[in-house]
Amino acid sequence: MADATTTYKKPLPKRRGVAGQFYDFCKKHELRFQRCTSCQTWRHVPRDMCAKCGSFDWEWAKSSGKGKVYSWTTAEQVMLPQFTSDVPYNASIIELEEGVRMVSWVIDIPNDDLRLDLPVEVFFDDVTPEVTLPKFRPIK
Ligand SMILES: [Zn+2]
Repeated sequence: MADATTTYKKPLPKRRGVAGQFYDFCKKHELRFQRCTSCQTWRHVPRDMCAKCGSFDWEWAKSSGKGKVYSWTTAEQVMLPQFTSDVPYNASIIELEEGVRMVSWVIDIPNDDLRLDLPVEVFFDDVTPEVTLPKFRPIK
């Protein structure tokens, strides 16, 4: 959780177009993904057309926020100076119950305890007044 008295210095997502809409929902602490309104297939990352049926019709559908660890890696080296205090940290692929996968962090667990299919749920980290990042933690 970002301390309101500090300035967040890590890279922030660009909030334009449909990606911006995704982060606007995160700001409201809602995890939503595109869902095709023709064939009901969920998708992420945001894009105009359904890869399954070719439809351009879609909606922002609310995710349960629950999923499992699909894969991860642990960063041991500092690639950007803003992450010095975070190493080692994990970059994880989360598979949500709806079937979509997204890259995030799993926190509240030692990196060595991460495992495939670990049940996790989203929480929303308000890193700046404008930006909220979806992160995940184990379901206890
Ligand atoms: Zn479709």
